[in-house]
Amino acid sequence: MKKSRILLGVSGLMMLFALMSFPTPAVAEENPLLKPWTGPNGGVPPFDQVKPELIDPALEQALVAYRADIKQIAENPSPPTFENTVAALEHAGSEFERVATLFEVFASTMNGEEIKALEREWSPKFSAVSDEIIQNEKLFGRIDAIYKARKAAHLTAEQERLLWLTHNRFVKSGAQLGAEQKEELSKINARLATLFTDFGQNLLSDEETGKVVLDSRDDLVGLPESLIEAAATEAEEMGLKGKWVIRNTRSSADPFLTYADRRDLREKVWRMWASRGDNGGETDNNAIVTEILQLRAKKAKLLGFPTHAHWQLSDAMAKNPEKAMDLMLKVWKPAVARVAEEVADMQAIAKERGENLTIEPWDYRFYAEKVRKKKYDLDASELKPYLQLEKLLEAQFWVAEEMYGLSFSEVEGLPTYHPDVRVFDVKDSDGTHVGYWYFDPYAREGKRSGAWMSEYRTQEAFDITVTPIVSNNSNYIKGKPGEAVLISWDDAETMFHEFGHALHGLLSKVKYPTLAGTNVARDYVEFPSQINEHWLSTPEVLNRFALHYQTGEPMPQELIDKVEKAATFNQGFSTVEYLASALIDMKLHLAGDTKIDPRVFEKETLAELGMPSSIVMRHRIPQFAHVFSGDYYSAGYYSYLWAEVLDQDAWNAFKSEGSPYNKEVADRFVKFILSSGNTQEPADAYRNFRGQEPSIKPLLEARGFPTDGVE
Ligand SMILES: [Zn+2]
Repeated sequence: MKKSRILLGVSGLMMLFALMSFPTPAVAEENPLLKPWTGPNGGVPPFDQVKPELIDPALEQALVAYRADIKQIAENPSPPTFENTVAALEHAGSEFERVATLFEVFASTMNGEEIKALEREWSPKFSAVSDEIIQNEKLFGRIDAIYKARKAAHLTAEQERLLWLTHNRFVKSGAQLGAEQKEELSKINARLATLFTDFGQNLLSDEETGKVVLDSRDDLVGLPESLIEAAATEAEEMGLKGKWVIRNTRSSADPFLTYADRRDLREKVWRMWASRGDNGGETDNNAIVTEILQLRAKKAKLLGFPTHAHWQLSDAMAKNPEKAMDLMLKVWKPAVARVAEEVADMQAIAKERGENLTIEPWDYRFYAEKVRKKKYDLDASELKPYLQLEKLLEAQFWVAEEMYGLSFSEVEGLPTYHPDVRVFDVKDSDGTHVGYWYFDPYAREGKRSGAWMSEYRTQEAFDITVTPIVSNNSNYIKGKPGEAVLISWDDAETMFHEFGHALHGLLSKVKYPTLAGTNVARDYVEFPSQINEHWLSTPEVLNRFALHYQTGEPMPQELIDKVEKAATFNQGFSTVEYLASALIDMKLHLAGDTKIDPRVFEKETLAELGMPSSIVMRHRIPQFAHVFSGDYYSAGYYSYLWAEVLDQDAWNAFKSEGSPYNKEVADRFVKFILSSGNTQEPADAYRNFRGQEPSIKPLLEARGFPTDGVE
């Protein structure tokens, strides 16, 4: 859950962004970023040609071409048809799309001062351009005319779907508003784009500057040696040789909170981490949040929706906020009850240790680890020697071959932006080229944290056939040459998760790129990725690929059993931490134009919900980047849970056929889910795959919550 990633296909991005008028630079024709991609299988991204100084002139030049495409479609003297308008829009601005893709890849993986400046410059430009396209009256007039005459047009089901999505996107973004309202909307959008950038940069600033310096060995009691070494390296890099530094990042703070014996220091680190964006002064995000919420409420009203949440969910699988709230509250209640049990276990251990305390948020991870050890005799570090990155890579390829007949072979010599990046040629069982998969595994400066999938080229097959190019990105620590890279169980699950997104992009078989692969509703897109995590823990995978890095022995059955037994451990905590954020996100965006003080709202709303005092939200409001550094996840953080109902229910479909590798279920899964993109309503696609509606019961079972009375 909660994996960060870039999922919007670039064609989607382009439509969200917008066009503005800039002069044509004289040298632009020679800019290599503007050329069609060359190389095998329809070409590959020319990463070796990218220099930051080429991006700006390339984008501006490509924008001119994009505008010309739009003008040609909008002012076509022929009467509007599906082909000359809706289908033609699919290829408008393809040059711009290619340059924007290269820019996006560099912004997320090779970022530096020059790229940061370009991001600041281009985010408001992008924002203004989408309004220019959406508000083009001639263009929308044609789309609307085709939409109104659709019954007589003899369109295929896929064409009808594309027409509806295109029409809906224009209407939802204000194409039907009057001139004054359009102007107001553009102003709101421009201001929001700036506020999103400010929010993100403030948060980054707090994360980069915050630190806790530890002076003596006494401060380190309980920490594993690897953490101590990492903290010493951090200190040395900051010119504090001989000391230890805990940085203000999740990967630095969470392990400290899990292992450090010193309660006062845990509290100090926790306070630093939980206060990001909420420290007063220049980087405080509270006022920005208030303004974003007001603008979103105003925008929703302009567009004819009661609140931003209603506007956002109108084309989601959930359809309306009530349905999303209903699901969240169904899971919230048992999760809170489970937290009470978890806390009781932890209090008992504290008592045994002779400690007289009440479990606070800075204690939870620490005592949970002690409970895990006691109840399940499982230490997370026991698993790591069996989880070699290279073997897990083989494992995910093996599953993709067993399930979907895909084969992955590494290719040399194609351009990459960094020597660590690897490229794989993907073929189907007939040996036909399916696409390319790029893998960028290691952390480095200038690469965003977390793990994500992104799409370099989207599949399509109407005028021409275009094969997809997708990538997975993560932040493993690169070992010494020749040494195995070992990762945690969580990281292995994340790896399978992101690979699930990649398969969704690669197996796409649609005509129009807007409908392809991961270009689906926000609350549906995590379904193919979350279900792919399940195959990691199958015996077929563990016995073949979870091999000890020194002895080559497979993971012992006894250890596998312990992992299985501990599967529902601490689910109260992880469910409540996530859901508190998801509920606050939805309630903030259901509040309408009430002026919101984030600190007061958070406190009062959590009290109403009965939030346990021992847990803090996974993302407090002033640091909730999903929701305030852009629009994609706003009123949408519930999506992971929504998709989990589907992935747990679908996993049951595999299991009920006797094996997760059942070929017949796999074929149905490809047909209705992985290959069909957005050609159908997600609810219909799911029903066609499953033969029935999804039930919430498998999700509750998987988390170890009671299911009495649940159908
Ligand atoms: Zn995901």
